[in-house]
Amino acid sequence: MRQAPQPSQSQPIWGIYVHYPLCARRCGYCDFETVQLDDFPHQAYRERVEQEAAARVADYADAALETVYLGGGSPSLWPPEQIGQLLRGLARQAGADLGELEVTVEINPGDLDRGALARLRGEGVNRLSIGVQSLDDRALSTLTRTHDAARARRAYQDARAVGFANISCDLICGLPQQSAEHHRAQLEALVALEPEHLSVYGLTLAARSPLARAGYRPLDDDALAGQLEATTELLAMAGYEHYEVSNYARVGRQSRHNLLVWQGWPYLGLGASAHSMALRGSSALRVANPAYGAYRSASPQLDHDPVCVEGARVERSEGREAQLEVLMLGLRTRDGVSRARFRERFGQDPLEVFGPTLEQLARWGLLRAEASSITPTSRGLWFADEIALRLASA
Ligand code: SF4
Repeated sequence: MRQAPQPSQSQPIWGIYVHYPLCARRCGYCDFETVQLDDFPHQAYRERVEQEAAARVADYADAALETVYLGGGSPSLWPPEQIGQLLRGLARQAGADLGELEVTVEINPGDLDRGALARLRGEGVNRLSIGVQSLDDRALSTLTRTHDAARARRAYQDARAVGFANISCDLICGLPQQSAEHHRAQLEALVALEPEHLSVYGLTLAARSPLARAGYRPLDDDALAGQLEATTELLAMAGYEHYEVSNYARVGRQSRHNLLVWQGWPYLGLGASAHSMALRGSSALRVANPAYGAYRSASPQLDHDPVCVEGARVERSEGREAQLEVLMLGLRTRDGVSRARFRERFGQDPLEVFGPTLEQLARWGLLRAEASSITPTSRGLWFADEIALRLASA
């Protein structure tokens, strides 16, 4: 098992994110760009993604590919054979050995039976992120998920049975009127399954989501903060490290993909609505792909810097803005920001640029300036948004 990237790592690395936009139906709390189609063109979509990859991979040639992450939408609706063909193509284009990569697929319980999970494992996928969200049928029904608790447990057990040794489960807390005891019971039930990784999020109801329009409201901030604090305590006792604001892992089982993004390494986002980041010296180029309707007929623009598909939105951040992005992302993680890597990219130490604000945040007990890194305290991880706000207004 390769270890997660360290913040001070100097050998350049990168990751690939592939967005798969299809969902069986829209969950009531979600306003992501998703597609509901009975006749989604699985093969044509793969070919379109491969065409995009062929045009864009060269931008990342100076670094070593570490991870491939298939998210959505519901990539568990993409036939495993299509995923396998895509993975082999991406590894070949990137000059990487598929067996060396962390390859994650997000799955919804119930989309894949044991046979399909075995085929997915056989195609080179070695990590699953299962959208469990709750193990209580009433809560799942409020969230209008397509599965019940029994299906979630079966998906987890089937995945284990076919050889997945690295599984993450998502849990949503802060549900309307959810008690602290109910949340604790959900967490304990999930821990009893013994996943390597857990992501615990407070429910957010986007204004456009069906649940928000129906008058549902998540818990108030204080009650939610209580649930999140209880989460950290309970998971620490169960042997999970709180390594990012919403993420917990057994030793060495952090998400390598998400860590490299938070540590400021470049990533290539392929597919409809996918986001990318490429480096140009100390500047960052961010690319947002068009949604599915435009993406499926968009050709790569080879004379563009960076190469991207028609209709993509490109933004450049440089100078203080680029420095701020690195600090804000890095301070969401337990390991924080490496001062050496920051100096290497920007020619300045973070304390030279943001000294007074960082010192103030340290006095408030939210972070520590150590010789090699700037790291959040345990309390600072809870106040990552406040830290970001203070840095942005410095
Ligand atoms: S499965 Fe995920 S992406 Fe699809 S509608 Fe539900 S929450 Fe949104």
